[in-house]
Amino acid sequence: MGHYYYVSKHSGYNDNHVVHAAGCKYLPPLDARMFLGTFYTANAAILQARKYYASALGCESCCPLPIKKNLNNQNSVALKHTA
Ligand SMILES: [Zn+2]
Repeated sequence: MGHYYYVSKHSGYNDNHVVHAAGCKYLPPLDARMFLGTFYTANAAILQARKYYASALGCESCCPLPIKKNLNNQNSVALKHTA
């Protein structure tokens, strides 16, 4: 299942429009963000944002570059259910 992603309507530092995932503490207020859609990766959301804003970038807090692959969350959830 993917995440909801938003892009800030107002450019920030260096004239960049920042892409955020739902729940990010830096997510702009409702009237200052645009809903992009549901995406499985931050990169896909950033590509979508660039259709509107060529300078769109991922938020460093919620859109880390795709280096880490921590897909072990499902295992820990399953363990909790069997306890
Ligand atoms: Zn963010």
